[in-house]
Amino acid sequence: MCALSKSSKKLANPKSPTQSKKLQSKKPQSNKSKTTIKPSDIATIKSRFLSHYPNAKTELVYANTYQLLVCVMLSAQCTDKRVNIVTPALFASYPTPAALSQANIDELKEIIKSVSFFNNKATNLIKMATQVMERFGGEIPTTQEELKSLAGVGQKTANVVLIESQEANVMAVDTHCFRVAHRLGLSNAKSPLDTEADLTNAFRDNLATLHQAFVLFGRYICKAVKPLCQQCFLQEFCLSKSNFKPA
Ligand code: SF4
Repeated sequence: MCALSKSSKKLANPKSPTQSKKLQSKKPQSNKSKTTIKPSDIATIKSRFLSHYPNAKTELVYANTYQLLVCVMLSAQCTDKRVNIVTPALFASYPTPAALSQANIDELKEIIKSVSFFNNKATNLIKMATQVMERFGGEIPTTQEELKSLAGVGQKTANVVLIESQEANVMAVDTHCFRVAHRLGLSNAKSPLDTEADLTNAFRDNLATLHQAFVLFGRYICKAVKPLCQQCFLQEFCLSKSNFKPA
């Protein structure tokens, strides 16, 4: 599990008023998040996300953990819709890690060529499948550490796989989560990993559902350009609304 940032600890473990004053007056020591959002506001935001998206699920289409991992790897900097277009042919040609480990890279590239960064992704998919065969007996591993040991699998990809396959209590920060977390003042960290730490520390539980809820909210309402602020159920917490014209 990821380490919590210092700022996150402050967020979830507020000191006494005197101590808080001292902390606020300290000169910043790094670029890490220094949000001032109140615990009661965090609780309200959490509860509204959970009530609006009680059963939030990924829009990636998959049938097993192997397919899930491949889908998530392909979805990096690409839309789920685009991934869902290429995966039926991909899984028909390579239905198992064993088959993918033996794939001809040019044939694999031809299948996934409409996905962003398909050259790198093709290379990583074959390497990942080979590692799964050699080190995990053909089974997709089930821990974050083991998943991260595979080619092309970073913490975000590992956590999304854990969320989807096990409903693990972890947060994964993609472009939508990052944007939403910052617009709502839940984090002002510079990196997805520090943002993940802030969200994890702020919410503590229901992280799997909250991750999916952040993704859906960011994808369809709090969009990067022209967010649908009239439909937003969190307007009073938004730090960015004034930057946008109504869609
Ligand atoms: S008010 Fe608009 S920009 Fe702010 S969180 Fe809601 S949808 Fe996003």
